[in-house]
Amino acid sequence: MKRLLKIISFLLIMVFTVGCAKNTDQLTPEKISDEKSDITFATKLINNQIESTNQTDEDLGQNKMKNSSSDTNEKKYYIDTYDFLVKPLDPENTEQIVLLTFDDCVQPEPNSYSLEIARVLQKYEVGAIFFVNGKHLETEFGRKALKEISDLGFEIGNHTYSHPYLSDLDYEATREEIVKVNDQVEEITGKRPKYFRPGFGIIGDYGLQVVQEENMIWTNWTYGYDWEEEYQEVAALVSIMTDNPYLTNGANLLMHDRKNTFEALPSIIEGIQNKGYRIVDPSELTTDY
Ligand SMILES: [Zn+2]
Repeated sequence: MKRLLKIISFLLIMVFTVGCAKNTDQLTPEKISDEKSDITFATKLINNQIESTNQTDEDLGQNKMKNSSSDTNEKKYYIDTYDFLVKPLDPENTEQIVLLTFDDCVQPEPNSYSLEIARVLQKYEVGAIFFVNGKHLETEFGRKALKEISDLGFEIGNHTYSHPYLSDLDYEATREEIVKVNDQVEEITGKRPKYFRPGFGIIGDYGLQVVQEENMIWTNWTYGYDWEEEYQEVAALVSIMTDNPYLTNGANLLMHDRKNTFEALPSIIEGIQNKGYRIVDPSELTTDY
């Protein structure tokens, strides 16, 4: 209830950009018709103004990660559903950390880079949350990829079944979009998702209700750029992801299952670490706060 009140009292977020976009050159005709336009949101806490701009859409090793999300790690952080920053449970904890998250995961071949992204993360021994759409779990490829990513120790989050604007749906349709994916992920990985991220960053009142009913934590993000036209070049993406005003303690980074992101990821990880941030493992986050 405390969390619900916090969400309801939430008026505006710092600054976040609505993602989950896809470059049309990565979309099959079927997917193009399946996707709506994307939106860029920038909400400013200071002046209570919301700016929104419509945009065009867009064998793994058998060894698990050393810092595998085994739930055995000490819980030291949580995601604040007010501003989506990752914050320490202990206010005396001044460690500088960031969280990596990936959306629209296990896309259909040949546009799927989720497994390759997981391998890069594994090499660097850093964790992440992979948010998946249930529609991608209807294929053997999608199910196998998700299982492998989960078996490597990565956290799997729920990103709705079909990536709709939840605010357009009634309660029953919203519940179907969310609960179906929890069921799918649990069937495939043996674990029910704890985290929910709505498509386009818009959860809606029914979405909030279902997330509460399902005892999940929802989160948007604090920054991300990989779907925007000007960041399709790897060097530009690395630069903006590692050098922007929103790279702060607790930043919640949004990236996607995309080729440019996969190629930029090693330099993004190194750039963030070189600035003194530790990439937090989701197993260090509690959802019980
Ligand atoms: Zn998305």
